Amino acid sequence: MDIKKLTVKGIDNVRPLVIAGPCSAESREQVLKTAEELAAKGIKIFRAGIWKPRTKPGGFEGVGVEGLAWLKEVKKKTGMPVATEVATPEHVFEVLKAGIDLIWLGARTVANPFAVQALADALKGTDIPVLIKNPTNPDIELWCGAVERIYNAGVKNIGLIHRGFSSYDKKIYRNVPLWHIPIEMKRRYPNATMICDPSHMGGKRELIAPLSQQALDLNYDGLIIESHCNPDVALSDAAQQLTPDVLDYTLKMLVMRDNVQTTENINVLRGRIDEIDGKLVELLAKRMAISKEIGTYKKEHNMPVLQTKRYGDIMKDREKLAESLELNKDFVAGIMESIHRESVDVQMKIMTNREEKKAKVLKKIASKKK
Ligand code: PEP
Ligand code: MN
Repeated sequence: MDIKKLTVKGIDNVRPLVIAGPCSAESREQVLKTAEELAAKGIKIFRAGIWKPRTKPGGFEGVGVEGLAWLKEVKKKTGMPVATEVATPEHVFEVLKAGIDLIWLGARTVANPFAVQALADALKGTDIPVLIKNPTNPDIELWCGAVERIYNAGVKNIGLIHRGFSSYDKKIYRNVPLWHIPIEMKRRYPNATMICDPSHMGGKRELIAPLSQQALDLNYDGLIIESHCNPDVALSDAAQQLTPDVLDYTLKMLVMRDNVQTTENINVLRGRIDEIDGKLVELLAKRMAISKEIGTYKKEHNMPVLQTKRYGDIMKDREKLAESLELNKDFVAGIMESIHRESVDVQMKIMTNREEKKAKVLKKIASKKK
């Protein structure tokens, strides 16, 4: 599967690609006012939710089909392509009928394979660009599954939106970023357009700028940011929306890192990293060979694989060593945990082997007795 860069008709390959607009379309006036202010600031693509998946009933659930006409008006007046979220096949039918330029699948929808498949079926034979948000839970396979379902329906113009993952603890982020998940997505789909949604990630205005900068530092292609002409009275997500003015200021403050990758210097440093990684892997192989020997010894002496005290001692010692070398001890502890887990697995296999052999011998004895 090869996901190419997302293309939106009429939009050049700019970086960062910024999609902005209110969380929800609330009224014709609010939509048009926000869109005109954003267009005046040079925003290229307009977003607004028409159908809103609210966690609990009773919240503002969107204006529905009526709002699509407002988006069409935005497109006509400002020239900006327009985007909205779809969650059901009926939504797909309506957005296609209205000529919406771009759609996204929300985090709650992506967490539900039945819903994604129904959308994929509804999208068969269309060429509308589709952005796929990460699911609410940090399950990369679920995210990939949604990408595959949409791709298999024949939609090839796909992009990804990283909006963070929900957790019980919402002290800092509304949805924790877990940057390693989108980084792994980029490894799997190297050409895919990756867009960060700092609004739903941070959940508050003051986090938009630092999260956007982090995304750009990680070489993201774009940002989708909620912007409302009067955020304080917004019917949804009021705390995280920026006025078009503040959004413009925020975007101007962002630092774009130089994208040119290969200089003499970095190549030398990368060469050293490659060499060290090679040594690390060789050392791991040596360590694992010894671990196997220990496994055989334990088997022969009828010792259990897990020696809790020994494991505790190893961890304490390595953490102390890490600190003395000015390394983050939690980072080293994570690596040691993973090495230990693999060692235990390998030794368990040796034990199981013994059990298999024992079973064979017992079977032989039993059959002789008969
Ligand atoms: C949205 O973008 O308006 C939205 C509802 O986002 P999410 O699916 O990320 O919660
Ligand atoms: Mn929102």
